[in-house]
Amino acid sequence: MKQDQLIILGGGISGLVAAYALSPHFKEITIIDKDQVGGEAVRPGASQGAHLHVLLKEGQNILFKYLPELREMLLQRNCKEVDWALDTIWDNNSGRFPNYCSGVKTISTSRRLLESLIYSELSKLENVNFLKDFVLDYGEKGVVTKNNGTYSSDLTIVALGAFNNLKSNLALKKEITINLSYRSVIFKAKELNLQNELQYYYQTSPDGKFPGGVICPIEDNKYIATIIEYGNKISRNDKNFESFIEKSREIPKGHFFKIIKNAEPLTPVSIYMKKKMSLYSAKQKCLKLIFIGDSLVSLNPSFGQGMSVALLQIDALVNMMEKNKFSVNRFERICQRIICKPFFLAELGSRSSGLLKFTLDSYLILAMKSKKLHYLFLTQLHLLSRRGYND
Ligand SMILES: Cc1cc2nc3c(=O)[nH]c(=O)nc-3n(C[C@H](O)[C@H](O)[C@H](O)COP(=O)(O)OP(=O)(O)OC[C@H]3O[C@@H](n4cnc5c(N)ncnc54)[C@H](O)[C@@H]3O)c2cc1C
Repeated sequence: MKQDQLIILGGGISGLVAAYALSPHFKEITIIDKDQVGGEAVRPGASQGAHLHVLLKEGQNILFKYLPELREMLLQRNCKEVDWALDTIWDNNSGRFPNYCSGVKTISTSRRLLESLIYSELSKLENVNFLKDFVLDYGEKGVVTKNNGTYSSDLTIVALGAFNNLKSNLALKKEITINLSYRSVIFKAKELNLQNELQYYYQTSPDGKFPGGVICPIEDNKYIATIIEYGNKISRNDKNFESFIEKSREIPKGHFFKIIKNAEPLTPVSIYMKKKMSLYSAKQKCLKLIFIGDSLVSLNPSFGQGMSVALLQIDALVNMMEKNKFSVNRFERICQRIICKPFFLAELGSRSSGLLKFTLDSYLILAMKSKKLHYLFLTQLHLLSRRGYND
């Protein structure tokens, strides 16, 4: 049976997809966001959206399950389908991952295009509406917003992102300092000066000795180039393209620099500093309030798992609703299980020293010589093993 009212706080990727996937289960859904949502233009709310945003394989599987038409819409915008071994040159300071047909393929797009297409599909639904307002609090009477609104509902989903201001309902479980800086620029090119590959990765190293970089195709024959660096090394001056080029010289092997040095930028350089990754759990005071996406867990972005983790949570929520098995406590339990593995991987990959770092590095060195081990790494990275997520 349909419930009456769902309120979703935050219209980022978590809020938008949750609204779409849950629309058959509620008579009315209201998304409240402080900004205009869904646009391809720069939005202050999701400022990270100007940076490289890879939607991993399992994330895409879930997205296309709820919005199958999105795949064709992306291809029509000339987004490329990329095999993570065959179409990718992936270097790190120990060598290069093998080049073979892995079948782990994703469609490469910008975060902004992805959100705007989801939004355009969502706005076709009659039971979903949008409210532009700033969320202040959640109290006994429901959601309180800046424009003096109070909204009650059968269920409220908090999808306010990493700067979620309803954290008094959460308990901090783990926080790890990462001090990761991002510099990104979009440019246009017919092709990259690689052999046949479509994207280039130089894996960044948490010891901060040198930056890493990614050049990835997005829509309309454009590319996004992102430099990722550990350490507190970014300043406002890094917003000019010349300093971006200079920084790219520090990425070992010189491939990134060679591709970018004659590029014509289509956007200013965007910068972002991510200080910490953090994991929360719900205090479970309220039986009508749940948290999803970055509101609950904010990962090290260089592993590209954030959006996929949010989608796994949404999928789990829909499964529960379909089976009439939803409860706040059960959902919270499953969310913690979903988060466990990606958080561990991101934590492991954020270490600059120690036994765990040594173990991961040794594995990656072996994966350079073995397609089998590399494939295993890809399936873990792309969250393709769902064992243990069900209640
Ligand atoms: C630099 C960087 C690179 C990343 N790269 C990747 C990647 O490659 N792949 C990947 O999967 N993930 C990546 N991530 C993580 C990804 O951005 C997040 O996991 C994802 O945005 C989470 O979506 P969300 O909807 O939960 O939160 P958000 O996208 O942050 O959305 C939150 C929404 O809430 C609104 N909001 C916030 N506060 C209020 C308020 N008080 N009142 C009203 N509205 C409010 C905001 O306007 C916004 O629209 C990256 C993150 C960063 C920082």
